[in-house]
Amino acid sequence: MSRIDDWRASGREVSVAGLARSGTAATRLLRANGVPVYVSDAGSGEVLVEAATALREASGAPVTVDIGGHDLARIAASAALVLSPGIPPDAPPVVAAAAASVPVFAEAQLGLSAMAEVPAIVITGTNGKTTTTALVDHLLRVAGRRSSAAGNIGNPLSAVAMTEPLPEWLAVELSSFQLHDCPDLAPVVGVLTNLAPDHLDRYPTLAAYFADKARIFANAGPDSIWVSNLDDVDSRGMIRRVAGRHLSFSTAPGHRADGWYDREADRLVLAGQPLLDRTELPLLGDHNVANALAAALAVHAVGVDRALIGQGLATFRALRHRMEPVREVDGVLWINDSKATNVASTRVAVQAMSRPFVLLLGGRHKGEPYSDLVGPLCRLALAVIAYGEAGDLIEHDLGPAIRVVRATTFEDVVAKAKALATSGAAVLLSPACSSYDMFDNYEQRGATFRALVEEM
Ligand code: ADP
Repeated sequence: MSRIDDWRASGREVSVAGLARSGTAATRLLRANGVPVYVSDAGSGEVLVEAATALREASGAPVTVDIGGHDLARIAASAALVLSPGIPPDAPPVVAAAAASVPVFAEAQLGLSAMAEVPAIVITGTNGKTTTTALVDHLLRVAGRRSSAAGNIGNPLSAVAMTEPLPEWLAVELSSFQLHDCPDLAPVVGVLTNLAPDHLDRYPTLAAYFADKARIFANAGPDSIWVSNLDDVDSRGMIRRVAGRHLSFSTAPGHRADGWYDREADRLVLAGQPLLDRTELPLLGDHNVANALAAALAVHAVGVDRALIGQGLATFRALRHRMEPVREVDGVLWINDSKATNVASTRVAVQAMSRPFVLLLGGRHKGEPYSDLVGPLCRLALAVIAYGEAGDLIEHDLGPAIRVVRATTFEDVVAKAKALATSGAAVLLSPACSSYDMFDNYEQRGATFRALVEEM
């Protein structure tokens, strides 16, 4: 019996924390399966009121909806607590559940449990998760398999679990926070893109963050298939003793992994055979070659034909806010990499540049030093525009080796970049910080950048 069957049989209520898209989808899924639900959200406002009303009016097992706060005693008396992805581990509902020994599950786990028969390729890692997930989904579709990309990519698994018919395959992106509460995870193929410092604002130590990433391997067995990064020492250390078949990818010169980048021939190689010329992969940067190799290995392992993989890689397009060329104005190329919210992701963006550029760096500091960027910036950077809450730290960490110019509003950031970038150069928004000091999220930051560039 699955967990959901157990809960229905017990007749007890399950609590759901968070009433945005994932929490709403989880509530609907539980009710459709005959499980009574208590769902609550600490926020208030029009959107939540609407979501609450819609849930109360929908049919299914009984539901109680609270907004503007949580009934912690009720959560403590539940059979389980299902968490929306945005709820931090120190939020009152999580603390109350833990104190009462109520088991906690990620919304993603709930959705996966409801689709236990659908094979899943699960992708995690510090950077490149969304791109690799979208690539896996695209490659499966090109191969004629009805696939759905779900999870952290912006499509709750509980919502996918309510679709009819269910997809034949799942390409699932999971963050470390989601993995923390997915105890039953057993992917057909698991992909670890890379490991680097991130989320040091939410984890007490780097080891704690990596430990959550390692949960993708929790139920590894002899039939498991794992794809990981041969170029990354931390990834190699993490997979060393994991049971199952291991496949690796590499973009480092001369590293002949199961999927590798042959720089001399300038092409991608899969299982010892040419896969695709580099020029046919329409994505910027070596990091995207790594993502493409990871996705290729994952689908090849489940029987997708090499020719179809090549075709799929050649027809994939850059995702929004990820090294996305916006427009060329007076010989200056403007690139939106707003999704780069940690130093490691900005580093690969800087390394991907092939012309002189001005880097827009700043936002809310997440705890990592910016000094790692000095070496790569020395190659082609004309200047760095430092802005937002992290501005002082950036100036401190990069100067005097790199020319740092301070700016205030985002309009000022873009205007200063425009003044500094000469014809033939580029302006790269790759902020290495979260956006929350000035924007709602990285999407809004990228959209603002795009709008300012389009006005030029
Ligand atoms: P995630 O979902 O893990 O945040 P994305 O695919 O959304 O990853 O990419 C986010 C940013 O991370 C990109 O804008 C790029 O700068 C960087 N990035 C993408 N792939 C990689 C990779 N394989 N290694 C390092 N950085 C990467």
